[in-house]
Amino acid sequence: MYKPSRAFFHKESLDYEKGKKIYNKLRDEGIEIDVLKSNRVTNIPGATPSEAYSEAKRTLVVAVRKTTNFQTCKPSAHYQLPLVTSCPGLCQYCYLQTTLGKKPYIRVYVNTEEILTKAKKYMDVKKEEDIIFEGAATSDPLPVEKYTNNLADAIEFFGKQQNGKFRFVTKFAEVESLLNINHNGNTEFRFSLNTEKIISQYEHKTASAQQRIEAAKKVSKSGYPMGFLIAPIFIYPNWKDEYLELLKNLEQKIYDVPNLTFELIAHRFTQRAKDNILEVFPKSTLPLKEQERKLKYGQFGYTKYVYHKEQYNEIETFFRDNITALFPKAKILYIV
Ligand code: SF4
Repeated sequence: MYKPSRAFFHKESLDYEKGKKIYNKLRDEGIEIDVLKSNRVTNIPGATPSEAYSEAKRTLVVAVRKTTNFQTCKPSAHYQLPLVTSCPGLCQYCYLQTTLGKKPYIRVYVNTEEILTKAKKYMDVKKEEDIIFEGAATSDPLPVEKYTNNLADAIEFFGKQQNGKFRFVTKFAEVESLLNINHNGNTEFRFSLNTEKIISQYEHKTASAQQRIEAAKKVSKSGYPMGFLIAPIFIYPNWKDEYLELLKNLEQKIYDVPNLTFELIAHRFTQRAKDNILEVFPKSTLPLKEQERKLKYGQFGYTKYVYHKEQYNEIETFFRDNITALFPKAKILYIV
């Protein structure tokens, strides 16, 4: 269970009921609190990049989110729903590492009602189509849910909408507070999974595979549309046995969920991500040797190192065959 070491409040966050509640909860937990005068967070400790990074992850900032336009979130959703930024996890390959800077402290927003009202405006513009909002584009919102209640508010709100859908993904397992909400099938609850070996080596301070699967079992009982994101997929000794064990374990635990989806992403890295990873995790054993990968060119000259074609094909065949056999009703959205 996440507990920050320190918390900073933007002073206007205390004008909101939610801000006051978070303040009282943190105070009761004995956490050091500072109400900022200028709203600038400057005093996070840390002598080295690794220390600064992990101290930032122990820092909670409570703020009011400007309800200017939402960022788009293609291809999986129309818009990002900004509820939280960053997360307490220390995944070595965190997809936010290149965007959140060297001190990715966790920011939670207290003006949820205003944010959801803004979301409603987007829905009202195109009433004839479903507008999809992604709640985990810049964060894993679940570990701070015990302070914010933001996911619960969003799920309940979308449960009442005619043409709005909500989705998010998590590597955590504290799902209890979300099990009895009237989601009305409008929220897709996704879990990011990997083998126990990969999680314990690279996804520090997150839930184990077993804990996530147990959480998925509870969520599947609550009737949410569900999905699993298996990423990043690595080729390593025994990878097939271990990923198969993960899939079998999942198949035995979760209840029959309509519209179950899988998203699969093979490991890849950019030069920038590699430099960041090695700065924060200098002893990382992640496979980041350019000479073992194929350089792939994307749009605008952007390049990444991916598995060679034969390796990628092996990953694709393995997952397609096994998911089809174990989850015949599930849909594989993509394998990249
Ligand atoms: Fe990043 Fe997600 Fe890991 Fe948090 S749980 S560190 S957001 S990859």
